[in-house]
Amino acid sequence: MTHRINALQSAVSRPYPEAVIVSSKVSEYFGTNVFSRLVMREYLPEDVFRQLTEAIDKSGQIDPRIADQVASAMKAWAISKGASHYTHWFLPLNGATAEKHDAFFSPIEPNLTIEQFDGTQLVQQEPDASSFPSGGLRNTFEARGYSAWDPSSPAFIMDGTLCVPTIFIAYTGEALDFKTPLLKTMALIDEVAVDVCQLFDRNITKVYPTLGWEQEYFLVDESLYFARPDLVMTGRTLTGHIPARGQQLEDHYFGAIPHRVSAFMKEFEVEAWKLGIPVKTRHNEVAPNQFELAPVYEEVNIAIDHNQLIMVIMDKIARKHRFRVLFHEKPFEGVNGSGKHNNWSLATNTGKNLLSPGHTPKTNLLFLTFFINIIKAVNEHAALLRGAIASAGNDHRLGANEAPPAIISMFIGSQLTRVLGEIEKKVKDRKMTPDEKTELKLNIGKIPRIIIDNTDRNRTSPMAFTGNKFEFRAVGSAANCGPSMIVLNTILADQLKQFKAEVDRSMEKGVEKDEAIFRVLRKYIRESKNILFEGNGYSQEWVEEAARRGLPNLKSTPEALESYISKTTLELFGKNNIFTEKELHARYEIRLENYAKVLQIESRVLADLSGNHIIPAAIRYQNVLIENVKGLKDVLPESLFKEHSELQLHSILKISDHITQIRSMVSQMISERKKANQTEDMPACARAYCKQVKPLMEEIRYHIDKLEILVEDQLWPLPKYRELLFIK
Ligand code: ADP
Ligand code: MG
Repeated sequence: MTHRINALQSAVSRPYPEAVIVSSKVSEYFGTNVFSRLVMREYLPEDVFRQLTEAIDKSGQIDPRIADQVASAMKAWAISKGASHYTHWFLPLNGATAEKHDAFFSPIEPNLTIEQFDGTQLVQQEPDASSFPSGGLRNTFEARGYSAWDPSSPAFIMDGTLCVPTIFIAYTGEALDFKTPLLKTMALIDEVAVDVCQLFDRNITKVYPTLGWEQEYFLVDESLYFARPDLVMTGRTLTGHIPARGQQLEDHYFGAIPHRVSAFMKEFEVEAWKLGIPVKTRHNEVAPNQFELAPVYEEVNIAIDHNQLIMVIMDKIARKHRFRVLFHEKPFEGVNGSGKHNNWSLATNTGKNLLSPGHTPKTNLLFLTFFINIIKAVNEHAALLRGAIASAGNDHRLGANEAPPAIISMFIGSQLTRVLGEIEKKVKDRKMTPDEKTELKLNIGKIPRIIIDNTDRNRTSPMAFTGNKFEFRAVGSAANCGPSMIVLNTILADQLKQFKAEVDRSMEKGVEKDEAIFRVLRKYIRESKNILFEGNGYSQEWVEEAARRGLPNLKSTPEALESYISKTTLELFGKNNIFTEKELHARYEIRLENYAKVLQIESRVLADLSGNHIIPAAIRYQNVLIENVKGLKDVLPESLFKEHSELQLHSILKISDHITQIRSMVSQMISERKKANQTEDMPACARAYCKQVKPLMEEIRYHIDKLEILVEDQLWPLPKYRELLFIK
């Protein structure tokens, strides 16, 4: 019996657990595993509590003298909740989460042990962790790596371990993680955006980016998963004929959630809520066995920690329910892939969302200022934004007529397009008359009413304005949101600096404030209209139109990553103190290397599948046919034999043909892989994988998928798409 048949029997016969429901009233246990402000207040002396929360709110330094007290409070709380270990928890550049547990317990004298966790252990550690990618930043003998406490993201307990979110940096100070640069961009945004807000509202003294991610994923039955070496090793299927029914009936999207799936969802939601992750929405997605979850948005640093955390939790709970959760961007060909929409906006200490239009011309001018500066920033750094989301997995999805194209453009809706058009037309270089100004402001004052009518939301745009936030949809489902958020925050901050300087200059020349602002905004609209596109982003016409506009269309990861080390990017991050040139080069190398390694692994697995699974099965079936032809020859008179064996002979030849093609292309692929591996230069190696190895993988797949249709079902070794996608 094939692995597949075994797996199928097991998939349909095993019992599945029900969800464990704690209480239907989530507020009763929300955040119970978090060292929250409430817990801090209970466990910390009043003055320490005040100092700590002030430092967190103002992103200030923590006085080392209070660290001991905080550590001791954390320890007491964690032990009271049954924790025995602690760890610094960080986000290294391999894209996963990292933890290295130490027991609180510590022998201090013979026969005397205590539970220990003090300020130094809280604040900084040297986890070694030298096997994480560093892009050459840790090649010297001084290659130590340090993790340092991030007090702005609360500690939490997971699996009996107190986890303290930290940054991760090299001895030399270079960042080795996603969090360090993100925190820098947040401080930068705060400084620059407050400066701009002060033009409009003196009460605004703090600005921070907000992120609400929407996570898409697939679920696959565990037994079937284990029978697919490609899923186990690469997270996606490297072969598989499209099933008779895919997503064409559009019956899965928002459909009733199957019982077994909802048991899984309910259980991971409980775990998420205990960890203070404000999970809110769940639904079926477009493809069969594809689902989505979304939380209420949070401050970006915490939102990213929570996204990384929930991927870990989902993976764990899925196993309990005998599922595997696939975060890969394209686990199945022929049905939609998965993304992670990043809803991004800016919030203030006054409770205002800066991308939410207000009720007066004045507040709307504030809104338009941020709105237009974002458009200008994206227009200037579109290639970098594309670079931020580049990965081997996401390459399968972008531009595949199901996800935003690889061309970065922005959708803002017809009404805001009209508003921008009006500013462009009506604002004058000369002093405007009171009438002209009143008319302009009146129109701007109407914005809130029109936004509500924002129903024509374009699903094909990589970056859409959706009423009170921008939704960046090109992010891959498996990705850490960090790179996208780092880029968006930095390009906006840099742009706002320019804006403020231009307005100031104009005002110094005696132009009145509102008029100065309008003039700069008009100039920006003119300069950056190119990036605005309201039409169908999936269409061929857009590809042509974008080329005419000179917008970058970077189809593959090796191409897209070049933007990380372009002159503009190095300058942008350098002058804003987010990344040094060395750090950017390191990140560029790490991501290229990751790309090449992913393709290398996929190509190895495909060779194994071809030689050890597919071809033997095809030969076995071919032999059945050959036996049949021989038998026919024995029993049939010569006159009938020709006619009645024709189809079998044809199939035998077809199978032979595919086997020969697969064999020859696998050996070509192996030799191309060897060549690529011998390339010392990382960009050239990644390009070789992209241009030489990948196309062969696609051709091999074509022949395997043809064989899947020819070979007898019982003999086919790998679970088919109809089984992977429809058994739940
Ligand atoms: P959809 O895009 O699926 O129609 P919604 O528009 O309702 O869904 O919201 C999607 C996500 O946008 C949610 O995760 C929500 O938390 C997030 N969101 C809403 N407002 C903001 C904001 N001001 N900043 C960041 N994210 C936000
Ligand atoms: Mg969305």
